[in-house]
Amino acid sequence: MSGKLFIIGLGPGDDAMQTPRAAQALASATDLVGYGPYVDRAPHVAGQVRHVSDNREELDRARHALTLAAQGRIVAVLSAGDAGVFGMASAIFEAIDQGEPAWRALEVEVVAGVSAMFAAAARIGAFLGHDFCAISLSDNLKPWELVLRRLRAAAETGFVIALYNPLSRARPWQLNAAFELLRGVLPPQTPVVFATAVSRADERIDIVDLAEADPNRADMRTLVMIGTAATRRIAREGRAPWVYTPRFAGDSGG
Ligand code: SAH
Repeated sequence: MSGKLFIIGLGPGDDAMQTPRAAQALASATDLVGYGPYVDRAPHVAGQVRHVSDNREELDRARHALTLAAQGRIVAVLSAGDAGVFGMASAIFEAIDQGEPAWRALEVEVVAGVSAMFAAAARIGAFLGHDFCAISLSDNLKPWELVLRRLRAAAETGFVIALYNPLSRARPWQLNAAFELLRGVLPPQTPVVFATAVSRADERIDIVDLAEADPNRADMRTLVMIGTAATRRIAREGRAPWVYTPRFAGDSGG
């Protein structure tokens, strides 16, 4: 019996934004492995076993999934958005890299998904229209000083920045510290997007100036994006503006 491991990005929330390949893989799996709210998004399949875990035990969860696949099960490991963007894909390959030699012979398929930054940018225009980067504000796996260095370098050299994991109960102060640093580098009118629960029923998207960006608008389900000096708004009568970053280099390149 030969097992298989799917590493699946479920997209931002709405099933219409999940790829057909992800749906096929979910339907074919004998076992689902993931954080509870992600496993809840998979349609029920008779006989399928669900292994639900806490969101913080990523490496343990990866080893568990690999062990099941090595026993011949067809295992789907689930992430929101794209599994390679602050998701389970790296944890799986770390576990393979450090783990059982037999795991290298397993069939592994990474199924791409629509990451939160693509879903959020698409709602409002073309915010990521030129060079951009994604930074996780979580300092679980890296020192906070490194986060600040990366933010400064990205802002000084004209990258649009997508901030994942902007805050949590354990670290409510980080987003404010990030805004304070960015206010020292970018013009006060730089557009900042708070995109919460994109593609879900309670989606909310606010666009404000960096000078007025209030970290209290964000929660764990918010993606925060910061534009460059070149990012522009197109005002519209009675409707939300479009916001886009033009294809030519901005003047924020230091
Ligand atoms: N792999 C995921 C990211 C997981 S990290 C992806 O590619 O999207 C978790 C963070 O992702 C959250 O704190 C939030 O910043 C962002 N996020 C995930 N889904 C989101 C959604 N539907 N709307 C807004 N942000 C989302």
